[in-house]
Amino acid sequence: QKIMNASTANNMITDKLLRNFKYLRISITDKCNYRCSYCMPKDIFDKDHQFLRKNELLSYEEIIEVVKILKDYGLEKIRLTGGEPLLRKNIELLIRALKEEALISEVTMTTNGSLLDMNKINKLKEYGLNSMTISLDSLSKNSTNTINPINNDLKKVLQSIDNVIDIFGTVKINMVVIKSINDDEIMRMLKNFVHKKVELRFIEYMDVGESNNWVSENVFTSQDTINLIKQEYGLIKIEDRNDSTSESWQIDGYPLKIGFISSISKPFCNTCNRGRLSADGKFYTCLFSDYGHNISHYLRSSSNNEDLKKFFKNIWTQRDDQYSQIRFTRKNFKRKKNKVEMSYIGG
Ligand code: SAM
Ligand code: SF4
Ligand code: SF4
Repeated sequence: QKIMNASTANNMITDKLLRNFKYLRISITDKCNYRCSYCMPKDIFDKDHQFLRKNELLSYEEIIEVVKILKDYGLEKIRLTGGEPLLRKNIELLIRALKEEALISEVTMTTNGSLLDMNKINKLKEYGLNSMTISLDSLSKNSTNTINPINNDLKKVLQSIDNVIDIFGTVKINMVVIKSINDDEIMRMLKNFVHKKVELRFIEYMDVGESNNWVSENVFTSQDTINLIKQEYGLIKIEDRNDSTSESWQIDGYPLKIGFISSISKPFCNTCNRGRLSADGKFYTCLFSDYGHNISHYLRSSSNNEDLKKFFKNIWTQRDDQYSQIRFTRKNFKRKKNKVEMSYIGG
């Protein structure tokens, strides 16, 4: 791959692999009411686990301040995530400020859906949220419990999915597929949603963090899923956005769309235009980073916005991450030892 010096034009900033900065995922809390085995295994995230303290979390005002600065560098899209983002109070106020004060054109959210009710969904829409993604890995009690030992809310989550479709017109559903754990749920999920205005996204199980005991043998690849679906349904390819991380298809004759996020079998580092902000204000240039740049320091010290602007520009223009692309191909690739956890960085 051609590597050039980073350059800037019209305030857009480009990293060492010529990728512009456009998209920010913000984790607004590292806490969650669930303990999905692939993300927050319950024996590690137990009562002794040290979560971030309240005073470490960025306030909504601080988040807006950062976002306004990053907007100058071309930021167009934000996803609110966590932990479980709906554990933070009055998230709709943050959404409104992101839209109306920081003028971000697309603000979205990923949630486990357990804390949603009709009132909240209406509010999220009213305050400007553009779209929602709800995570759901299974429809059967058994595999739901293996993956997520706390989830007793299946009925509620399914109701939330219907309510989100009513209010937002559509919903994305994220399903992480793990071999021999919930691959037998793929067709059940598909048939359950085939008549609905849903985009069901199959996510390959990833080795984020250090606590989920990931091994490559447990990955059920997108191709495995496609082969399974093709036995019963026709698939029509839909054009993907240039920088999209998922490949989308329409189920022939039905409203359901499906998407594949193939981070393991078909990595997309080449077009990765996203940064990640943790709940305590660290900026990460890659999902698999072991180091976060301390942005909150700039917000909470006497330094001014120009200092933070310079700091950020420096981080992005030095960026050369491509973990997923090189880990299987580069001979001297060293696996990092202290990758940050998914619940902290937000996926
Ligand atoms: N709690 C919210 C939720 O579950 O939707 C938002 C945060 S969660 C970390 C964001 C997304 O990351 C979810 O869709 C989740 O399924 C996905 N995820 C978590 N751990 C993963 C892993 N090891 N591999 C692939 N996806 C993962
Ligand atoms: Fe919580 Fe989401 Fe992680 Fe599950 S995937 S433990 S719901 S943060
Ligand atoms: Fe982006 Fe890092 Fe994921 Fe590659 S591995 S797509 S650089 S976050």
